[in-house]
Amino acid sequence: MISSTRITRWLFTLICSFYLSATCYCAETAAWERSAVTEVVMLGTGTPFSDPQRSGPSVAIVVNDTPYLVDFGPGVIRRAAAASPEYGGKVVGLDVANIRHAFLTHLHSDHSVGYPDLIFSPWTLGRDKPLEVYGPEGTVQMTKHVLTAWGEDVRYRLYGLEPTNNQGWRVNAHDISEGIIYKDENVTVEAFSVRHGSWPNAFGYRFTTPDRVIVISGDAAPSESVEKYSLGADILIHEVYSKKGLDERDTFWKTYHSNNHTSGVELGKIAERARPKLLILYHILFFGSDEEQIIDEIKQNFDGNVVMANDLDVY
Ligand SMILES: [Zn+2]
Ligand SMILES: [Zn+2]
Repeated sequence: MISSTRITRWLFTLICSFYLSATCYCAETAAWERSAVTEVVMLGTGTPFSDPQRSGPSVAIVVNDTPYLVDFGPGVIRRAAAASPEYGGKVVGLDVANIRHAFLTHLHSDHSVGYPDLIFSPWTLGRDKPLEVYGPEGTVQMTKHVLTAWGEDVRYRLYGLEPTNNQGWRVNAHDISEGIIYKDENVTVEAFSVRHGSWPNAFGYRFTTPDRVIVISGDAAPSESVEKYSLGADILIHEVYSKKGLDERDTFWKTYHSNNHTSGVELGKIAERARPKLLILYHILFFGSDEEQIIDEIKQNFDGNVVMANDLDVY
């Protein structure tokens, strides 16, 4: 005969296991909550396509009101201004004169063609310290050429009648390799190589802030490094293309994109293994497909939180 104590214990165990599995399920699918310390601002979610709704690739990670930019595609400073209180936005740290740190994933023009804007616009609006820029080999060289190209503008502003400072146009450029490349009281930034076709030098970045781990793929075909660095991260920001959309294109483009970028189906598999708390899609190649189709491709393999970012979204 079973004693009442044993039945009580069995019932207790049963109730506990139900409770625990319910808790785990909730924890896995918990809604994303914003942080007061770390804000992720999607300045540009586009690609080389000139979609006016999606500016060139750029993400601002703002920690304790200090902004750190990843990439500077076309329109970068206009978008930062739009996110700042001066133009009705809510991100105090994105006053453009405040932008002093930027990290470039690779030298492709869609990610870097906003460079003169990033250097000169904040300077004319009051930035009085040099810009610090970190990127792959070639970043120092690109910086030198941009400064030379706009040399006449710098001379005129410095030595004409315009009241301006002699620091904010300067750039300390750094060619980096893999590993921890930057650290201050707000962030530790780690660079890792990603696969991007035959492009020799493309990086993703992992930012560790006081309360968040954020990983950005940059442009990447499916890469083990992204998976490794985003394992258990709070946020993975990853590029994506629609598999269904690409299936409609010709063989040449299929070969190009599948070697350089990541489809929704492939990204779902990466996210399922890495399990970020939030997956943000950016640098989105629709190829005639739509948002729902791409999210469906992701969800074939990943059941966590996923959002398709629009310009000026804040997470
Ligand atoms: Zn690229
Ligand atoms: Zn790109």
